[in-house]
Amino acid sequence: MLKVYNTLSRDKEILKTRKRDFLELFVCGPTVYDFSHIGHARTYVAFDVIVRYLKEKGFDVFYLQNITDIDDKIIQRAKEKNMPPLKMARNFEREYFKDMKALKVNSVTKYARATDYIKEIIVQVKKLRAKSFAYQISDGVYYDIKKFKNYGELSLRTALQAEDAVSRIDDSKEKRNKGDFALWKLSRDGEPSWPSPWGPGRPGWHIEDTAISQKFFGYRYDMHGGAKDLIFPHHEAEIAQMEALSGKKPMVRYWLHTGFLTVGGQKMSKSLGNFIAIQDFLKKYSARLLRFLVLKTHYRSGLDYAESSLLQAERELARIDEFVDKLSSLRGFGLPQMSNLKISEFQTNFAEAMEDDFNTPKAMAVIFELIKQGNALIDQNLLSKTDAQNVVAFLKKIDRVFKVIFWPQKKSIPAVVLELAEEREKYRKDRNWPKADEIRERIARLGWQVEDTEAGPKLKKDMRSATL
Ligand code: AMP
Repeated sequence: MLKVYNTLSRDKEILKTRKRDFLELFVCGPTVYDFSHIGHARTYVAFDVIVRYLKEKGFDVFYLQNITDIDDKIIQRAKEKNMPPLKMARNFEREYFKDMKALKVNSVTKYARATDYIKEIIVQVKKLRAKSFAYQISDGVYYDIKKFKNYGELSLRTALQAEDAVSRIDDSKEKRNKGDFALWKLSRDGEPSWPSPWGPGRPGWHIEDTAISQKFFGYRYDMHGGAKDLIFPHHEAEIAQMEALSGKKPMVRYWLHTGFLTVGGQKMSKSLGNFIAIQDFLKKYSARLLRFLVLKTHYRSGLDYAESSLLQAERELARIDEFVDKLSSLRGFGLPQMSNLKISEFQTNFAEAMEDDFNTPKAMAVIFELIKQGNALIDQNLLSKTDAQNVVAFLKKIDRVFKVIFWPQKKSIPAVVLELAEEREKYRKDRNWPKADEIRERIARLGWQVEDTEAGPKLKKDMRSATL
């Protein structure tokens, strides 16, 4: 039975969806004012694996993700770049989709841009006004947190403790309480705006998510996710909005939050400027490696990124490849005797790990134990053809969820290495050996070896390389 950790109850709970075999999930998407970084990848790969697992279990999952394409940061960055904000947002949205595709994150059912749901947002703000949860001041419409008696339930903060964090974002002096947040911001000259009953303006940060989720799921649904930083104020505000609108609770049954990807203990973030864009990472390393790094850590734990740990991860991936290679040769020619491998034990252990709040590092350890025992049997010539077939079938099933085991070799090689190899080929064809050797050296410094075979050059990861 699948148990998930629910931030709302601070406990692991057995997953029971509102409709049988159907699951509605909303995950907060990116604010598109820059390239996405590997911290984003950590969160979106983690949810991709969660969704794939739920699907594999037989759930029909509707995975909804918003794209924040209008907010203060977008307007500010567009000003610096001298670009129309919505155009800039669209460009970074395109880059985000490219990144997700490279990372094989394709489990999202629907991406919904905030600016495509202005009508729904206005309806929600109007209703919150009508129910006296919202009030208007000179720069917009605000939510009165003191009116919502369960405020702070998710983040375990009181309205008073909420003041500081929110007031830095929406800091009008006319607000009733310092912790009140904007639902609709009136636009200043030159800023993007949409007509509304309160004047031309744009939505506040939190209302886009409730407007979009209500549109697709109604007032209540199964699961909501994001990284830990969103628990407060963002998700707290979503609950305050939606439950005030509907008069029903809980808005969401299960709240799932991912741990941060950090660098030297500090959260990787666009605003701190300590980030590695996914695209930069992929110039040097493979998307497979990034997915693997995410899976090696439990989704709720922090993942401290260090280049030094990449080599170990590369070695582990090479171990998987080597095992898969051996299995495929055995599938055809292995011994026909009885099974020597207790595959069902591995299947049970794998399932137990995943059913325990998607414990991917534990599940990964099961795979490596299987590789260890499988290799030992292969070395003694004791792995049967049937064993090999069963193991491959099991790994294929796992990989429908993980997407790290079976990768075309070419896709595991970083783009720079492939480009260098092509360049070297040209020099070889021109018999420019010194140049070709020089490039071979450069490839070696990136941690790869070139072997010239009859079928052409083959690239192999150099596991002794310290620099990677
Ligand atoms: P943003 O574009 O900053 O709004 O972030 C989009 C999503 O990525 C949110 O769920 C964030 O909480 C998450 N996120 C941002 N930075 C990190 C990080 N360093 N580690 C994990 N998740 C992150």
